[in-house]
Amino acid sequence: MGKPTGFMEFDRLSEAYEPPKARLKHYREFVSTLNDDQAKTQGARCMDCGVPFCNNGCPVNNIIPDWNDLVYRGQWQEALEVLHSTNNFPDFTGRICPAPCEAACTLNIDSEAVGIKSIEHAIVDKGWEMGWIVPQPPRFKTGKKVAIVGSGPAGLAAAQQLARVGHSVTVFEKNDRPGGLLGYGIPDFKLDKSLIVRRVEQMEAEGVVFKTKVMVGCKALPAGVAYDATEHIAAEQLVKDFDAVIVAAGSEVPRDLPVPGRELKGVYAALEFLIPQNKMVAGGKANPINAKGKHVVVIGGGDTGSDCVGTSYRQGAASVTQLELMPQPPEVENRPLTWPYWPLRMRTSSSHLEGETQRQFAIGTKEFLGEKGALKALRTIQVEWKSGQMSEVPGSEETLKADLVFLAMGFLNPVAGLLDAFGIEKDGRGNAKATTDGAGCYSTNVPKVFAAGDARRGQSLVVWAIREGRQCAREVDAFLMGRESALPR
Ligand SMILES: Cc1cc2nc3c(=O)[nH]c(=O)nc-3n(C[C@H](O)[C@H](O)[C@H](O)COP(=O)(O)OP(=O)(O)OC[C@H]3O[C@@H](n4cnc5c(N)ncnc54)[C@H](O)[C@@H]3O)c2cc1C
Ligand code: SF4
Repeated sequence: MGKPTGFMEFDRLSEAYEPPKARLKHYREFVSTLNDDQAKTQGARCMDCGVPFCNNGCPVNNIIPDWNDLVYRGQWQEALEVLHSTNNFPDFTGRICPAPCEAACTLNIDSEAVGIKSIEHAIVDKGWEMGWIVPQPPRFKTGKKVAIVGSGPAGLAAAQQLARVGHSVTVFEKNDRPGGLLGYGIPDFKLDKSLIVRRVEQMEAEGVVFKTKVMVGCKALPAGVAYDATEHIAAEQLVKDFDAVIVAAGSEVPRDLPVPGRELKGVYAALEFLIPQNKMVAGGKANPINAKGKHVVVIGGGDTGSDCVGTSYRQGAASVTQLELMPQPPEVENRPLTWPYWPLRMRTSSSHLEGETQRQFAIGTKEFLGEKGALKALRTIQVEWKSGQMSEVPGSEETLKADLVFLAMGFLNPVAGLLDAFGIEKDGRGNAKATTDGAGCYSTNVPKVFAAGDARRGQSLVVWAIREGRQCAREVDAFLMGRESALPR
């Protein structure tokens, strides 16, 4: 441990944000990295717990106390090595992870958690700045070929791990650039897309081949699922041409709200709004959905909803209201009761604070109301939750003015047509069925075909996708080589 008394001497220092007024004028990241001295002081707050709950709370099991200590001692390059030993892409998680490690930090019981995520962010940014992050091509090639369907964090992590142990990896992606939701979905102001480009370049130098605009398996996609594909490759072809296939195609089918008026112009699935925005920021054509001067209602209270809120403000929305079906959670959790687990509590994102966001809880939507085919309002109703059952409150209906509605109620499962094209058995929620522990984990019922990330576990987080990609890579390596894999689990 760097400084035994650090946690008593130093307060938690959060990263500085550019003020909303200034950041609303652009789509760039607005969070500054801690400087060296600040990161050192924050590292000194770590108590190096005998049982580091942070390490268990982190889905990739980051070895957090070690890099906290190394940063405190100024050994940045060693800290970077420890960080990369469990996480291929700390540059992504250091920006957009909700940090379950911090919820699990022992200091979080009765004080403020160590600023783990901000230290991670500082380490990896320094790594790039100093030129310490370089390609790590394999020393020998195995002659085995792996196809990966999907280039989100799960596919990227699996590809990097497998390429580094000498397999020839080809990543197939139906969109025009790699990254999955990191690139198309998550706004540029949360994650600058140049970060994905430099990781892709690193991986290309390690031997990974990216084939974009290629749709694997199915030809038709459900409404609301984006693609830029100009080529198609059949599932059987991949199975025939490669020694192993990993399906890391995400969970892309959006949950819809099939109430009267759903067809009105002005009601969109969240990604119909967010993806064209990413493309526009990257220099493409203007987003056909523009919130300027409009009353926006976002239905759904998670990350996707929040991203619609921030994007609407940047476009100049007249008002933004966010509706959530669940009741309002407590402002502060009962920590002795919830620690070290992820607590249910009111979460206010940076996007919420970029305007006077009206947040309404326990509200259902009965109908979208329009004139001449265009949305004008929503008919809402208050709901009550008792023993997990929802009921409507009689007489509580209201009309809410709206020119644009974004449906951000989550994603159901991967596209069934893709799983069917391979013949992959599904679980009860329509995800690719595969376990994560024991013999044959991550393998599907189809020989040679594995599944990882949101396509297997359902809609989740970037850090879980990275974990699954890494663990799946280990299983694929063992399968290909017929022996224990040297890759970490
Ligand atoms: C708007 C939004 C904001 C989010 N914000 C956060 C956040 O702040 N923090 C966080 O941790 N998580 C966030 N998430 C969740 C996170 O992005 C996902 O959990 C994560 O990206 C899943 O990774 P994945 O690799 O499994 O799938 P994805 O990232 O979905 O990637 C799957 C890829 O597979 C491709 N693909 C699918 N089918 C085919 C096919 N047939 N042929 C070829 N390619 C195909 C897709 O085009 C896609 O590129 C957010 C999600 C959304 C939608
Ligand atoms: S739980 Fe918190 S204080 Fe303990 S080792 Fe992890 S980061 Fe440090």
